[in-house]
Amino acid sequence: MQYHIQTGPIWEVFQSDCDCPLCEIFAKCEERQVSQYLNEAVMEPEARIEVNKYGFCTEHLRKLFAGKNKLGLALQLHTRMQTVRSDVLPAASYKQAVKQAETLEKTMDTCVICRYLEDLMERYAYTVAQMFAYEPEFKTVFAKSNGLCMPHYALLLRQSKGAGAQVKAYLSELFYLQNRTLDRRLNELDRFTQMFDYRNAGSAVKPDPETIPTAIRKLKGRIL
Ligand SMILES: [Zn+2]
Ligand SMILES: [Zn+2]
Repeated sequence: MQYHIQTGPIWEVFQSDCDCPLCEIFAKCEERQVSQYLNEAVMEPEARIEVNKYGFCTEHLRKLFAGKNKLGLALQLHTRMQTVRSDVLPAASYKQAVKQAETLEKTMDTCVICRYLEDLMERYAYTVAQMFAYEPEFKTVFAKSNGLCMPHYALLLRQSKGAGAQVKAYLSELFYLQNRTLDRRLNELDRFTQMFDYRNAGSAVKPDPETIPTAIRKLKGRIL
């Protein structure tokens, strides 16, 4: 079986009882990428070309700025700004001004790290489907997991082709898993809101502070 990417990290996260295995993989890969753009990638000609072309999105600039290598970041910002500067052109009319704004807006939030991670996560998602189809043991681990966040559930659906002839079984298991995890979160939210009912005033059981962050992460991925 030719996998799209190494399977070790997938085994690890699906066995870890986390809320979304793909969010775990994403966080680790993202951290590695950010660190790369603060270290070796600063001086790599190929990486520099990419940075000049795409720059960094808001989120990744924040993470880079929080890092230690201010000189490395300044060098990359310098060359990126030269690219941006060459896109700033004079506009002689309102129509041209709007066109110019549209062109600039398209380039404003492109990100070399996001581009890399998007491609990487697609390959991980495809490989999950392949593993389900070709590794019986993984099928069991998969069935015991806690489902995914909604963005990664959609990503697994999109990459379900990796399961080949077993795509139907894979989709059915995926659907079951996701419903189970959403039901759990719904029950937790129910319990949480009931704690605020006057009939429960003075109850020794307090609302679980993890309920809201867990629900947000289920809907949106690891944003908290
Ligand atoms: Zn996720
Ligand atoms: Zn980004």
